[in-house]
Amino acid sequence: MPDFIILTIPVKKKIALIAHDNKKQDLVDWCARNQEILIRHELCGTGTTAMLITGMTGMTVKGYNSGPLGGDQQIGAKIVEGKVDLVIFFSDPLTAQPHDPDVKALMRIAQVYDIPIATNRATADFLITSPLMNATYDRKVVNFRRAVSRRSQEMANMADREPAEKRN
Ligand code: PGA
Repeated sequence: MPDFIILTIPVKKKIALIAHDNKKQDLVDWCARNQEILIRHELCGTGTTAMLITGMTGMTVKGYNSGPLGGDQQIGAKIVEGKVDLVIFFSDPLTAQPHDPDVKALMRIAQVYDIPIATNRATADFLITSPLMNATYDRKVVNFRRAVSRRSQEMANMADREPAEKRN
């Protein structure tokens, strides 16, 4: 089994849209500006952000829970399941967030799964204008099946080596 596997991001991408409160208007404006491109893809987002974008642009954005109530974690889980291909996250670096651990977890899981993630407007502009928006892209991801079987084998070997009395 190889150490890495290739997972392909399709031409029609599943894009997650998230903005912290101070950045919501910026994201709504960004979505309106890039509407022609965005409507070719499938959009989802955290609850409030999704509702605002739909209300102000008319685009269909599937809403998950609100960020502080687990929405970022839901989007992270969708990355793991292969159901989110790209993340636009206008995060606010100047305000403490009650769900900061969830935000960090989402960023981490995007890194683990080699998912493009823009955390400010400039990066979002670079991403949305990339030729790769109209192409497939092969991302390189750790082969988790191999990692799990190797780890479980190591654990089993360790248990075999331990003297029986130590285990009891
Ligand atoms: P919201 O969540 O779209 O529900 O406000 C975003 C966030 O704060 O992570």
